[in-house]
Amino acid sequence: MFYKRIVIQPYEKDFSSIKPILTERLESIFFLPVLWKKPKPIPSTAFNPERQQFLGSFFLEDLLKEKQPGDIVLGIVPYDLYEPGLNFVFGVASSLTKTAVISTYRLHNSFYGLPEDFSLFVDRTTKEAVHEIGHTLGLGHCPNPECVMHFSNSIQDTDRKSYYFCPVCYEKVKKALGINS
Ligand SMILES: [Zn+2]
Ligand SMILES: [Zn+2]
Repeated sequence: MFYKRIVIQPYEKDFSSIKPILTERLESIFFLPVLWKKPKPIPSTAFNPERQQFLGSFFLEDLLKEKQPGDIVLGIVPYDLYEPGLNFVFGVASSLTKTAVISTYRLHNSFYGLPEDFSLFVDRTTKEAVHEIGHTLGLGHCPNPECVMHFSNSIQDTDRKSYYFCPVCYEKVKKALGINS
């Protein structure tokens, strides 16, 4: 399996404020060019009015429409996502389809009643993006709490970890990308 690029598909918003820094970080971690698509509206079928949330796995399928061979496709949604059986998810990914989606909804300090902090917001978004792309490459969760593949159940878990893979996980990433280290 050869990967050629990471395609980012924003929904509803263009996320222009985080675009340059997220692009630079993802390109340096995954050694792949990052291409941003134009924002796309969210079909109303993804919305669950009882929960007032959007179904995460809906996006994994929708993103297949954007996918060319060799692409890893990451969706970014400004709204809250859920999966059946979970109150919310920061993101979801499929290693089969190589598509992933993250929500920035709970990455804003304002969600927790705190003043906005742009650099914290970009770091959190980077962590969720790297984590879900890691899943598309077949990586599971890592017991190392500082590794980006550590499971985040809360924003505290996200803040504790870095946006880098631990050496064990990074070996797996490089192997999946066909990079000899
Ligand atoms: Zn995960
Ligand atoms: Zn790890």
